[in-house]
Amino acid sequence: MKDQTRQYINGEWVESSSGKTIDVINPATGEAFGRIAKGNADDVDKAVNAAHDVYIEFRNTPVEERREMLDRIVNEYENRKDDLIEAITDELGSPIDKSEKVHYQMGLNHFAAARDALDSFEFEEQRGENLVVKEAIGVAGLITPWNFPTNQTSLKLAAAFAAGSPIVLKPSEETPFAAVILAEIFDKAGVPKGVFNLVNGDGEGVGNPLSEHPKVRMMSFTGSGRTGAKIMEKASVDFKKVSLELGGKSPLIILEDANVDDAAFTAVQKVVNNTGQVCTAGTRTLIPESMKDEFLEKVKEKMADVKVGNPREEGVKMGPLISRKQYDTVQSYINKGVEEGATLYHGGAGQPEGMTEGFYVKPTVFSDVDNKMTIAQEEIFGPVMSVIAYKDLDEAIALANDTKYGLAGYVFGEDAETLKKVARSIEAGTVEINNAKGGADLPFGGYKQSGIGREWGDFGIDEFLEVKSIKGYFK
Ligand code: NAD
Repeated sequence: MKDQTRQYINGEWVESSSGKTIDVINPATGEAFGRIAKGNADDVDKAVNAAHDVYIEFRNTPVEERREMLDRIVNEYENRKDDLIEAITDELGSPIDKSEKVHYQMGLNHFAAARDALDSFEFEEQRGENLVVKEAIGVAGLITPWNFPTNQTSLKLAAAFAAGSPIVLKPSEETPFAAVILAEIFDKAGVPKGVFNLVNGDGEGVGNPLSEHPKVRMMSFTGSGRTGAKIMEKASVDFKKVSLELGGKSPLIILEDANVDDAAFTAVQKVVNNTGQVCTAGTRTLIPESMKDEFLEKVKEKMADVKVGNPREEGVKMGPLISRKQYDTVQSYINKGVEEGATLYHGGAGQPEGMTEGFYVKPTVFSDVDNKMTIAQEEIFGPVMSVIAYKDLDEAIALANDTKYGLAGYVFGEDAETLKKVARSIEAGTVEINNAKGGADLPFGGYKQSGIGREWGDFGIDEFLEVKSIKGYFK
């Protein structure tokens, strides 16, 4: 058993006031493999006060000092590579090569991107005889989900440190060990005491008191819309700033001149990556009616190559879902798809053949999906693709935007003008053309119910800043 039942507050590992713990489950086995503290309001209060005590000092550190601190964090993060990969594989059930190439790497990229953004970030600007200053907002509360244990935490932490905001982090209680390693990394990298505080626990015991604490000036949250709304409500009492990264139901549009084989490959990847537990997953595939049959054949071929199994086994492409609860949710959506009249084309309910333990599911494809169906409107957070046929480009764009979400969109085709038109028409914070990859310096966030604000790189730093006008500064 991995026992890490202390909190990291004011530069020290301390016992939680609650004396209670939470078991952490390995989703590949369904068994507990570790324990963390089940923190409470008293832990939160101590952590917020520690952060508040150093707020002015940290805010006023020279930018170069914060840049050097981020550089030391990058080095320490690299030193802990193997530990991070192990922790993510155990707590999330991510295939081990993805734990390295995706999860470990994304966390590293965010610290490096925030460091590099400081080279050109303008914190001050002269306007006539006046000065406009951007300065850290104050103590920030960070609450993160389980699906990308290093990415979601690191992108917020990197931005807050670059901005000069001390923070209190509450990571998901389902994947807390990567965050414990981050605490060790910051400790080793010489992050000043009070600047980083880790309070483990659940939403009720830690997330709630953090969201309502009067000394917290900003809540930065990634997770479900349901929880985001609760945090916003709590934060509204004393008008804290909120930054929310919520769910998605992203369209993947295949145009008439697209290479069907390439599009099918990417469509499958977008659905099975991280076992579909990706907020930007392209789970609504929009395809011209005339290309549907060929596309489905190709999808079936590609799905057959997706080896589902133990995350530590070589060649495994898809591990288990995070929990029994998530398994049940995905099952109920698959059953709902059948009930509402979609055609179950591949996969289906139940565990893959021969698998009895862990939270494994079958990659599943529905065809003949109407965009009004539940499986096309709600975020499933599992490897389930809905294939929706369209007649012409206008209908494709209308279907793409017929959703309460607006996190991401994908478009495949050859004609550059049509690709650009579609990309500009999708109501979403990120659009990928022909599987193009961008760096951690591009802004990330959602339109509509996918969130409020933008993270990553310089946009992420901006989230943690207030703006002050000093009139007559240069008089
Ligand atoms: P969740 O909302 O259940 O939990 C997220 C975090 O909030 C956890 O740390 C949890 O303990 C905490 N929490 C729960 N109740 C709380 C409360 N009342 N007050 C304060 N904190 C509380 O989400 P999840 O199941 O961990 O993650 C899945 C969701 O996250 C999906 O909807 C997914 O789309 C979304 N997500 C969004 C992005 C993005 O960038 N837009 C990225 C990843 C995940």
